[in-house]
Amino acid sequence: PTLPYDDQNIFAKILRGEIPCTKVHEDDHVLAFKDINPQAPTHVLVIPKAPFVSWDDFSARGTDEQISAFVRGVGEVARMLGLVEPGYRLLANIGLDAHQEVPHLHVHLFAGKPLGPMLM
Ligand code: 5GP
Repeated sequence: PTLPYDDQNIFAKILRGEIPCTKVHEDDHVLAFKDINPQAPTHVLVIPKAPFVSWDDFSARGTDEQISAFVRGVGEVARMLGLVEPGYRLLANIGLDAHQEVPHLHVHLFAGKPLGPMLM
């Protein structure tokens, strides 16, 4: 069972404007901002504005409209950053074994150098 959504998580605070972030894109459904501890020259986090704990929660409870808006939003961020031609990597951590730290769904977008093979 998924934990209930905790509206005190750090990304909820970012969405409410209670703590700052470096925004790279925003629309009605999606916010994209730079990761505070970048693991690649470009490391952006893309989150839905609606409260979902994880990819699991979102895929189970999200409406078709929410899911399509998020999937399209992630692609839009990559296009807006000019990453389609060089390429980019998406990653989502879900739960304990994946070391998900923040309990608000986020997709990591890595780019800006050859990223090498995916090892895990
Ligand atoms: P996770 O391990 O949950 O998939 O990734 C959480 C990510 O959020 C980490 O890459 C971490 O650096 C990033 N992060 C944690 N706190 C903050 C914050 O306050 N601001 C920003 N921009 N990123 C954060």
